[in-house]
Amino acid sequence: MTDTVTPMMAQYLEIKGQHADAILFYRMGDFYEMFFDDAVQASAALDIALTKRGQHLGADIPMCGVPVHAAEGYLLALIRKGFRVAIAEQMEDPAEAKKRGSKSVVRRDVVRLVTPGTLTEDSLLEARRHNYLAAFSEVRDAGALAWVDISTGEMRVMPCPAVRLGPELARLAPREVLLSETQAALCPVVTESGAVDTLRPRSGFDSTGAERRLCGLWSVSTLDGFGAFDRAELSAMGALVDYLDLTQRGRLPLVRPPVRELAGGLMQIDAATRRSLEITHGSNGGRDGSLLATVDRTVTAAGARLLERRLSGPSRDLNLIRQRLIAVRSLAENARLRDQLRTLLKAVPDMERAQSRLALDRGGPRDLAAIRDGLYHAVEIADILAGWQDAPVLLGEAARSLTGHDALVSLLRSAVVSDPPLLLRDGGFVAKGFDSELDETRALRDEGRGVIARMQADYAVETGIQTLKIKHNNVLGYFIEVTDRHAERMMTPPLSERYIHRQTTANQVRFTTVALSALETRILNAASHALQLERGHFQSLQSTVLASSGAIAQTSRALAEIDVACALADLAIAEHWCEPIVDDSHAFEISGGRHPVVERALRRAGEPFVANDCLLSTGESPAIWLLTGPNMAGKSTFLRQNALIAVLAQAGSFVPADSVRIGLVSQLFSRVGASDDLARGRSTFMVEMVETAGILNQADARALVILDEIGRGTATYDGLSIAWAVLEHLHDTNRCRALFATHYHEMTTLAGRLKAVENATVSVKEWQGEVIFLHEVRKGAADRSYGVQVARLAGLPSSVVDRARVVLEALEKGEREGGRTRTMALIDDLPLFSAASAAAPRTAAAPPSQVEDRLHKINVDDLSPRQALELLYELRGLM
Ligand code: ADP
Repeated sequence: MTDTVTPMMAQYLEIKGQHADAILFYRMGDFYEMFFDDAVQASAALDIALTKRGQHLGADIPMCGVPVHAAEGYLLALIRKGFRVAIAEQMEDPAEAKKRGSKSVVRRDVVRLVTPGTLTEDSLLEARRHNYLAAFSEVRDAGALAWVDISTGEMRVMPCPAVRLGPELARLAPREVLLSETQAALCPVVTESGAVDTLRPRSGFDSTGAERRLCGLWSVSTLDGFGAFDRAELSAMGALVDYLDLTQRGRLPLVRPPVRELAGGLMQIDAATRRSLEITHGSNGGRDGSLLATVDRTVTAAGARLLERRLSGPSRDLNLIRQRLIAVRSLAENARLRDQLRTLLKAVPDMERAQSRLALDRGGPRDLAAIRDGLYHAVEIADILAGWQDAPVLLGEAARSLTGHDALVSLLRSAVVSDPPLLLRDGGFVAKGFDSELDETRALRDEGRGVIARMQADYAVETGIQTLKIKHNNVLGYFIEVTDRHAERMMTPPLSERYIHRQTTANQVRFTTVALSALETRILNAASHALQLERGHFQSLQSTVLASSGAIAQTSRALAEIDVACALADLAIAEHWCEPIVDDSHAFEISGGRHPVVERALRRAGEPFVANDCLLSTGESPAIWLLTGPNMAGKSTFLRQNALIAVLAQAGSFVPADSVRIGLVSQLFSRVGASDDLARGRSTFMVEMVETAGILNQADARALVILDEIGRGTATYDGLSIAWAVLEHLHDTNRCRALFATHYHEMTTLAGRLKAVENATVSVKEWQGEVIFLHEVRKGAADRSYGVQVARLAGLPSSVVDRARVVLEALEKGEREGGRTRTMALIDDLPLFSAASAAAPRTAAAPPSQVEDRLHKINVDDLSPRQALELLYELRGLM
């Protein structure tokens, strides 16, 4: 047992002390090692072996390690699991350390802190998604949210009171959010959005320091040129830059001056609405099954990211929406041009991410090639657009940002080979003819290799050993190798005079000659000189690229814009979508609307989707539809399709319908009753009520509200009364457009009492006791619920369905004849399980079955239709 701390452990502990909240990757030769608790956590998270290495204060030190060459994969796994990782590299050659004394350890330092919001590696990023790092700050009464994608350099900021933080985070879906340690109370809001929360010292949010940092970053003396920012905005942006400085260890990424986003510029969609409409994320949390996945036909990664931004934040700017729609229409009408553009766009690499890696000094030759190819194709795309006489304004503007890089393109084309290697250290990326000195050095190096081959042939002849080989390894360098059978001859004169013995292995003996050593030195020198020259070229090409980073970024954005317009046009044509009219009325007129995601799923299954109209209001005043119909009729689908059509229209896309006219929607709310939210520890009903309260308090006259089965999480009469009052409030106070689906048929009488409420129903046909879903929405009220028929479709045993029908009839009769007591009397009178007993007669002495027992205990009045259905399932389980 030893209490002494080895010098290496002392160094480890010191570095670890500065990065207590991260897993420390401690570089030792070809491995990153982890110790102590880090090792325990990482070995479990990565499923790698946990071992021991030496002792610390008398106890074994747990250890695990990952090879450096495979580190990215492990990093990704750790980041995905919410860890951050500090990477400590060896800062000197181990030989240097030895020179200082035998006890000296190699100097190590953290060169980078890898966190979910600060990734740049292609292998760690999703190409088609943004990777945002956000910071929220409050100064006095004002709040602000700033966010940056360091893999593209885009930074944005907006005023944001604390209450809006949740919805904005839901829109942006950042990976990591910075909060001041004084605002730890907001952490749950952050984690709820799926991001990692990172608490930072207050000093990082100081707005005066922030202004200085930001001015330094963009080398300006004042920020006025970028806009007038308040203290909170400065503080949030400053916190981002401060954190980047920390995680990137002083090598600041390329961050472009901020764009100010106006809170009023976008359709407001809160987190619950996003979830329920599955706009950018499907129900499983990924892209699959989302609206985005269904409509995305972009061919570039930057285009895909732009489309996601559009759908996450549809515009409220009528002019912008129209310009975007005109661009899509023009491209939809011009198939040849569209195909030409898309073919070229397919070849455009991800310039944004290449550029940011170069800025962080983490780039490689392929990033230079990406910029070269992207800019080159941009010119071709500009040429095509230039030939288009009446190009829409938006595309004309984009086209102007595509050119102006001729000098850079021709430099990169002459400097970089067409298909360069990934890593700079492999060399070979500089094209022949770019630098005559490099060409000569390479010739020397390659010629050396030829000379070696000739030398081997000569030696084989001279020694008479046909199997003699000249080989190379890192320890010996070049050497001559023969099998041990020939060793003796080599070691006796005359051969031993020329061939100097170097090493004997199990089956081989190795030699060298004076000539071979000399040649080796020449080759080595040439190779390392060539590499050095290439490094120099890389540095200077990288600086040249970064010098025009602003203009390149504009070109990337323009290409993304063109890609999105082409993709939406392609979609519109292929799916027969129509151009929506968006104006400043309160209209909501959709003819032949479809749900794009459900339609596609049904098509795969070979089934047709029934298109439906939603003629809610023609313009002057908002109106409400009260939708009734049995479960499974298609109510939810209808509700959601209308909300999605509004999202698509304001995102500047064509829409899945025959014709559409929508007055600008400012806020979109969608609530689905009794959604399971047990993870948050609130009862489903409570969640539903909290969310409904949010809508009633916020919805303005331009809001579109979708309520699906509100109130079904509680007992029948409670639920009905709440749904009733909510609808009245929407009608009288919010005065907004709303679609309200319910199974409470009693509510249909409201249509007669409230001016702007109309009944609609999804029709079904009953045929020989079976229900057939037509999925057709028409005006009017549903005549009955068909719950029992649906239960039959679900596969309940016919005995249960028959019994349910009898109970239902009793209930209905009871209601007609005078309320609860009468109903109970009627039910009590019913013979127990008549159908079942008829089918399988029991002896009178048999004890009641579990099903009967359960039925006895039910208080039928307390059941909502949904609970009744659930009960039927339960009963079936008991049989
Ligand atoms: P509800 O909300 O009335 O219970 P849903 O909207 O969940 O019903 O729809 C039930 C199923 O019916 C869906 O999964 C879908 O496959 C099908 N469906 C809904 N609407 C349509 C439609 N317009 N055309 C064809 N099938 C539809």
